[in-house]
Amino acid sequence: MFDALIIGGGASGLSCALVLGSAKDKAFANNKKIGIITHQKTSHLQEALFNNVLGVPSGTTGKSILTSGLEKLYALYSHIEQIEKEKVIKLSKTSNGFLVETNKNSYTSKIVVIAVGYTDLITIRGLENYIEPHPRAKVEKSRIWLKNKDHVIENGLYVAGTLAGWRSQFAIASGSGAHVATDILTLWNNGEHTKVHDKV
Ligand SMILES: Cc1cc2nc3c(=O)[nH]c(=O)nc-3n(C[C@H](O)[C@H](O)[C@H](O)COP(=O)(O)OP(=O)(O)OC[C@H]3O[C@@H](n4cnc5c(N)ncnc54)[C@H](O)[C@@H]3O)c2cc1C
Repeated sequence: MFDALIIGGGASGLSCALVLGSAKDKAFANNKKIGIITHQKTSHLQEALFNNVLGVPSGTTGKSILTSGLEKLYALYSHIEQIEKEKVIKLSKTSNGFLVETNKNSYTSKIVVIAVGYTDLITIRGLENYIEPHPRAKVEKSRIWLKNKDHVIENGLYVAGTLAGWRSQFAIASGSGAHVATDILTLWNNGEHTKVHDKV
C-alpha cells in the first residue's frame, strides 16, 4: 500500500512529487511509500510554449518539461515509484484509504492526489459526485473542477492544479501541486507546519 499516490504527470503532479520526494531525509517521511502515475499523453504541457515563467528560459516547450521533469524526479528522488503507461479508470474508497484502478493494474493508497487537469473529458469513475463547472474558466470551454476546500476533497483525497479550480498558468498549477505536497508533509509531521528548503 502506498502512503501517497499522485495521479497525473503534468505540471501539478510532477511538482507535488518533487516536493514530497525532497523530504526523503526527514524522519517523518523517510519510511513513506510514494508513487506517481506518470501518464502524460493528455497534459496541456504537450502543446505549451513558455516565455512567461520565472526561472524557465524563454522558448522552453512544455513537452521538454514533461521529459526533464520525470528525469529530474528519478535522478533526485528515485525512491518515488514512477508508474508509466497506465491510465486511471476508477477510484473507490476502502476501509483505510483508496483503491486506484488503471487500465492495467490496481493500487491501494492511504492518500491520493488527483492532478489530471481540468478537461471535462475526465473519465475516472468514482469522482462524479465532486465534479462541478470550473469557477475560474470561460463557460464555453466547459472546464471542470473537483469541489474542494484548500485542495482537500475529502479526508485523504486531494486535488491539485487546474482541476482544483485554479486558472491555467504553469506557475499556478506547479504551486498548487507543491502546496498539496507540503500539506501532506505537515500531516505526516503530526501537524507541524513543514516545508523543504535546500541551502547553499
Ligand atoms: C497550448 C497551451 C499553451 C500554454 N501556454 C502557457 C504559457 O505560456 N504560460 C503558462 O503559464 N501556462 C501556459 N499553459 C498552461 C499550462 O500548460 C497549464 O496551466 C498546466 O499544464 C496545468 O497543469 P495541470 O497539472 O493542472 O494539468 P496538466 O499539465 O494537463 O497535467 C495533467 C496530467 O494528468 C494526466 N492524466 C489525465 N487523465 C489521466 C488519467 N485518467 N490517469 C492518469 N493520468 C491522467 C495527463 O496525461 C497529464 O499528464 C498553456 C497551455 C496550453 C494548452
